[in-house]
Amino acid sequence: MSFSPAIEFNDVLFAYKPAAQAVIDIQNWQVPQGQSVFVSGSSGSGKSTLLNLICGALVPSSGSINLLGHSFSDLPSGKRDTFRAKHIGVVFQQFNLIPYLSVNQNVKAAAYFGNGVGKDFEPRVQEYLNQLQLPSKILHTQASQLSVGQQQRVAIVRALINSPEILVVDEPTSALDADARDAFMQLLLKSVERCKSTLLFVSHDKSLASHFAHHLDMSELCPTGAENKSSQELSQ
Ligand code: ADP
Ligand code: MG
Repeated sequence: MSFSPAIEFNDVLFAYKPAAQAVIDIQNWQVPQGQSVFVSGSSGSGKSTLLNLICGALVPSSGSINLLGHSFSDLPSGKRDTFRAKHIGVVFQQFNLIPYLSVNQNVKAAAYFGNGVGKDFEPRVQEYLNQLQLPSKILHTQASQLSVGQQQRVAIVRALINSPEILVVDEPTSALDADARDAFMQLLLKSVERCKSTLLFVSHDKSLASHFAHHLDMSELCPTGAENKSSQELSQ
C-alpha cells in the first residue's frame, strides 16, 4: 500500500452545463487509504454527482481528481474505464444487477472487466456467498428472480469481486426496512474491513452515521453558491 491518499480533489469544479452554476466546487480534499467516510447531505446537494466523479462516470469541468496516486481525471476515457474496473467497486441505490443474467454471470462480468476471471474466480465467489449467507445454488438464479435482500448481497459480491481499493456506495438502504438496513450495513462494513478498502458511503439518512468514525456533510465539503466558495478539508 502506498502513502498516496485514496482520493484527492484539487480545485475541482463540476457543472452539468458549461454556463450553469457548479454543482461541485471542492478546492482541496483528501481521503486516506483505508478510511471509511459517511457522506451526508440533503437531496440535490451533489452526493451522487460526487460519487460519479470519483468513479469516473463524470469528469470535472476543471481541476483534477487523483485516485491512489494516479491522475485519474486526466486519463483518456478507455483507460479511466479500465482503472475503474480494477480499482473501484460501486454499489448503486437500485443495485443495478443485469436482470436477465444469472448471479454468476453478473459477478463474472465485473471480474472480466476488472482483474480478470482467474482460476480462483469460483472459490472467491463461493467464499463471498458464504460470508453473506447466500446458498451456492443462487449462482444459477436469474437476477430478476432475487429478493431485494438477495440483490443487495449480490451487489456487494459484485462490487468486491476485484478486491477494489476504493468502494463507493450510493444510498443503498433507502428501499429497506430497519432490520434489513442494519444487516446490510454489517455485511458491508465487514467486507470493507476484510478487503481494507477505502469506503465512501453516501446517504441522506443520518441515523446510519453511527456506523462510521468519519463524517462529512456536503455543506462543509462543498458549500455551493457564488458567495461562499470555500471548501474544508476532511477532518481526521
Ligand atoms: P444528491 O445525490 O445529493 O441528491 P445529485 O448529485 O443527484 O444530488 O444532484 C445535484 C444537483 O445536480 C441537483 O441540483 C440536480 O438537479 C442536478 N443534477 C443531477 N443530475 C443532473 C443531470 N444529469 N443533468 C443536470 N443536472 C443534474
Ligand atoms: Mg443521489
